[in-house]
Amino acid sequence: MTIYALSVPPDTTSNMSLAAWTPTSGLVDRERRTAAWDLQLRQAARIAYRQLQLLSGPEYGISWIDSYALSDSAPRERSTQEDQDPLLPSDLRLPTVALGPGEHPFPTRYASQRVTLRIEPSIYLDALVRDVMRFGGRIVIRKFDTPRDLMTLDESIIINCTGLGSHDLFGDTELVPLKGQLTLLVPQPEVNYATFGGLQGTGGFIHMQPRSDGIALGGTSEEGNWSLEPDENARQRIVEAHRALFAAMRGSPSLGPAISLS
Ligand SMILES: Cc1cc2nc3c(=O)[nH]c(=O)nc-3n(C[C@H](O)[C@H](O)[C@H](O)COP(=O)(O)OP(=O)(O)OC[C@H]3O[C@@H](n4cnc5c(N)ncnc54)[C@H](O)[C@@H]3O)c2cc1C
Repeated sequence: MTIYALSVPPDTTSNMSLAAWTPTSGLVDRERRTAAWDLQLRQAARIAYRQLQLLSGPEYGISWIDSYALSDSAPRERSTQEDQDPLLPSDLRLPTVALGPGEHPFPTRYASQRVTLRIEPSIYLDALVRDVMRFGGRIVIRKFDTPRDLMTLDESIIINCTGLGSHDLFGDTELVPLKGQLTLLVPQPEVNYATFGGLQGTGGFIHMQPRSDGIALGGTSEEGNWSLEPDENARQRIVEAHRALFAAMRGSPSLGPAISLS
């Protein structure tokens, strides 16, 4: 087995990912869903969920973590169409515990707690590369410019995993990028939970996930934006919103560890 790739980790999109297990996030055209598509997505999600659980542990950098969705409005007021008609099968959804004022350590009125799967790309991708080599696979750095280039390969079966590269390689103009970026803080091992959302009026959607290689802060998803350049305004918004959130959290003597952005 040979992997042909223009770039390998750490220079791939996968290495830049937050990599929470979120198989239904980032859907760009929900109206075009069909029953067959839903079935295929559910099957793929089931396979991925099972395989990731089999690999969980430090060797592959896959672990479970408590995640808190923070908000000032009660969770039931925020129910979406997705809640009423879930794409993800119920057996792949872990229960959410709605915590009200006084029941959680965050400076918002509500926090919905759920255990989520976290993948650390720098560990996981290295482990996958190591496994390929260990089982006799090869990695060849090479770019394919046209589908005709594939005909030069000796292999009888070719699996296309070129991600966003398919847009140019196969003329797949329906492929739409969602631009995201992360800001990494130095690791803070005492922070053992993830958060989604922040204080009201402090800059839109944000999220924080701790990893062994740093605390990942994010909160962008720009449909149709192909740029690989970090957006400095977005970085500032995301860092400042987290600074406000965790400064408020640190103000209460009864709270657990808050992340440090100083
Ligand atoms: C900031 C950020 C946060 C994210 N968070 C999440 C998340 O929490 N959960 C989630 O599920 N997803 C998340 N994603 C999305 C996720 O990272 C991608 O969907 C995923 O990494 C795509 O993997 P892939 O293997 O398809 O593509 P890639 O990782 O891009 O790999 C494609 C490979 O194909 C090669 N290639 C491409 N074109 C050619 C060519 N013409 N010739 C030769 N080789 C070629 C590339 O060099 C590369 O090796 C996030 C993304 C970003 C940027």
